[in-house]
Amino acid sequence: MAGNITLTMVKPVAYSKNTSGKILARITEAGFWLVAARTMQLSLVQAKKFYAVHKDRPFFNDLVEFMSSGPILVAMLEKENAVEDYRLLIGKTNPAEAADGTIRHDFGTNLQANAVHGSDSDENAIIECDFFFSKSERFYRPG
Ligand code: ADP
Ligand code: MG
Repeated sequence: MAGNITLTMVKPVAYSKNTSGKILARITEAGFWLVAARTMQLSLVQAKKFYAVHKDRPFFNDLVEFMSSGPILVAMLEKENAVEDYRLLIGKTNPAEAADGTIRHDFGTNLQANAVHGSDSDENAIIECDFFFSKSERFYRPG
């Protein structure tokens, strides 16, 4: 199991542009299985907890306000080498630097509103999936 899951969020601006469906299609076409998903709005408290690792960064307050500013789509994904492969699919943090054809290049607006989140390690993927989804909400790839 470890190494096979990652967590993504379609962030508020991308969600408000109604691109969640196109982004999910990119994800499943790249071979990721949708284990769990929901739409929701994070509270400021939840956003601060989720991004606690960044609490000392200068962009922290703006980030948590942005992430709690509107609805998001959050999803747990399964694939071999999920964390690394998903980071490749989404591209660099800044959409302006992300390669053509990556999700952040194609759907991102700016460095903050960069369309999607992606876990950065297997350890954090487990923590982040546990943050959003109980075991009974997870439906793994059949077979
Ligand atoms: P990533 O999402 O690529 O893992 P980080 O974990 O470093 O990037 O940052 C978390 C999120 O914080 C980014 O996705 C982006 O929305 C925002 N962010 C990162 N760096 C900056 C910055 N210098 N200014 C504003 N927002 C930033
Ligand atoms: Mg990160």
